[in-house]
Amino acid sequence: MSPVPSDSVGSGSGHLAEPEAVDEFALIADLFVPLTGGHPAARGLADDAAFLVAEPGTETVLTVDAMVAGVHFLPDDPPDLIARKLIRVNLSDLAAKGAEPVALLLAAAFPHDVTADWLRAFAEGLRQDLTTYDTVLIGGDTVATPGPLTLSLTAIGRVAAGQGLPRSGASVGDDIWVSGTIGDGSLGLRAARGELNGLSAADVAFLADRYRLPRPRIELGPRLIGLAGASMDVSDGLIQDLGHLCRASGVGARIEMALVPLSDSASRAVDFGLVTLASLLSGGDDYEVLFTASPRFAEAVAALGGSLGLPLTRIGAIVAHADAVTVIDPAGSPLVPVEGGWRHFRAGQRRDV
Ligand code: ADP
Ligand code: MG
Repeated sequence: MSPVPSDSVGSGSGHLAEPEAVDEFALIADLFVPLTGGHPAARGLADDAAFLVAEPGTETVLTVDAMVAGVHFLPDDPPDLIARKLIRVNLSDLAAKGAEPVALLLAAAFPHDVTADWLRAFAEGLRQDLTTYDTVLIGGDTVATPGPLTLSLTAIGRVAAGQGLPRSGASVGDDIWVSGTIGDGSLGLRAARGELNGLSAADVAFLADRYRLPRPRIELGPRLIGLAGASMDVSDGLIQDLGHLCRASGVGARIEMALVPLSDSASRAVDFGLVTLASLLSGGDDYEVLFTASPRFAEAVAALGGSLGLPLTRIGAIVAHADAVTVIDPAGSPLVPVEGGWRHFRAGQRRDV
């Protein structure tokens, strides 16, 4: 599609308030072609489509996530961080499937008043994380919009055929594990909005960074093949996502709140009464990996966490009650989420910004 007309992004005119100021093709040539890393699949972004050679014995894993200004990031967030979060939330889905990133496709709808400086910073953010995660951009689409900045990234990954990790592989008796820490993303959104008065500047900065720059666990995912039964990434809140995993597997889960790993900053936020532990379990934007494994693999899982320098924490076990997630509070009492109960929590934890 080509609704973004005339002139050049490279014109150096700075502010592109005129709709005719950005040229789609100059934008692609100047900013996006360098992000292909010369990958043959991209064909120099000079063809209608990319051509990716299929590797025998592998499956292609595809995922897409959209991000909209004012919904998934703050409209005035730095453009490089927006670009990097876009890449990272998609790579998180690949990681949870045990897949390695291969290439990305980007569909971008830029507001008419986007500036050349903004676009350059955005492309620089893409470049930075393409390098970090050793992947390339092989295509996409660029349009202008009268609405908010809207970005959609498709991530293409690869996994040995039949080895990808499903949500549906949990068995009764499995341990439930989670990587990293839970709750930093939702607290980080509040930190980024200046709503965490009482925490130190260092804690606020740590949490805001966790919201703006998730750490996709791409080194973990492929190593879980052979250990994990079910796996998914935690993006919409630990409890809700665990519920999805349970439904897909036809099992229930029992987790202990006191075992859920918190960062030091999040622990302090709980201690200071800025947030409840229960609400952290329902907050979004964690981008950690939630997985199940037979207890016979417990030592291997712990050793894997050690070798990756990534905390892997057992938070509970899979039980037979289909679909039900039971949370045991730190005093040992079960908090069975009643219909609408967790939903009520989530209403106070809206992802809208
Ligand atoms: P078409 O009109 O055939 O859809 P376009 O003119 O939109 O193709 O795009 C031309 C080339 O530029 C294609 O290779 C496309 O994949 C690439 N491209 C366009 N926008 C982007 C983008 N935002 N990121 C990466 N590649 C892009
Ligand atoms: Mg075409």
